[in-house]
Order: sequence, then structure tokens, then C-alpha cells
Amino acid sequence: MQETDWIRFKPSPIHGQGGNARRDIPSGTRVIEYVGDRISKAESLKRCEAENPYIFCLDEATDLDGNVEWNPARLLNHSCDPNCEAEIDGGRIWIFARRDIQAGEEITFNYGYDLENYREYPCACGTAGCVGYIVSEEFFEHVRKQGRAGGACSIRQGGLAGQ
Ligand SMILES: [Zn+2]
Repeated sequence: MQETDWIRFKPSPIHGQGGNARRDIPSGTRVIEYVGDRISKAESLKRCEAENPYIFCLDEATDLDGNVEWNPARLLNHSCDPNCEAEIDGGRIWIFARRDIQAGEEITFNYGYDLENYREYPCACGTAGCVGYIVSEEFFEHVRKQGRAGGACSIRQGGLAGQ
């Protein structure tokens, strides 16, 4: 598998392939850039409807589709209590450490999904606070309530990981 200065990619207990810290990573470090094709909102909508889960909202006009071979960051897993976070800076997406990370820890970030069809994206992150589905942190409370009520949901919040 591919490697970077900070990350070694290998099979993960969470899902498929994942990335692990090769060495201790200080909080705030930009661990890897999330790269991909820059696409228009119209093209993005098409690809989202084709259930491409790797699309990030960059700005009002442009999205980024990370579903490309040359984007190893697409292999990083989601967690409900992640050690990294995505940030957009000057039209580029960086995955940075939100806390100190120990060598060997799996690198995770919150995918920032909205609630559309969230039940199709179960989470297996295994953290104590796991809400059971891959959704943005702002929806945790909502999903926990839904889980108890067993109801359906139709709230829609713009693009994936849209800030
Ligand atoms: Zn989880």
C-alpha cells in the first residue's frame, strides 16, 4: 500500500483499509492532503446521486471528488471520536491532527455526512460514544434520539462535509 511521512495504510478493524500513524504526531500537524478532481456543483450532484461518498464541498462553486487512485486519504476511516479533522484552506483540503496521536493509532476523521439516508452508513468505529451511523457531529444528538424512537428522517443539509 501507499505510504506517506505520517501514515501507513493497512487493513483496519473499522472498515476495509485504514491509515495508521507511523510515529507520534503532534496536535495540529497536517497529516495528509485530501486530493481529487475539482468539479462543478452540477457534476457533483450527478456523482452524489451515483452514491459517490468521497465528495467534499470546497466553496460555493466547486466541489472535490476524492474517489481517485492518487488520493490515499480516501482510505482513512470515519470515527465518532476522531483524532483528526478536515480543514479547507486556500481551496485545498487538509486532514490535520486535532490532538496528539500516538504511533500505531488509526488515523480517523469525521466524514461530515448529512442525515440523508444515514442508515445506509453504519459506523463501526468502536469508540465509547459511537452513535452507530456515519454523520457529522452536529447531528449526533438527533441520531441518538432517532435511535431510541426508531423513526425515519428526512432532514437535508447541503453538501457532504459542507461548512
Ligand atoms: Zn462510530
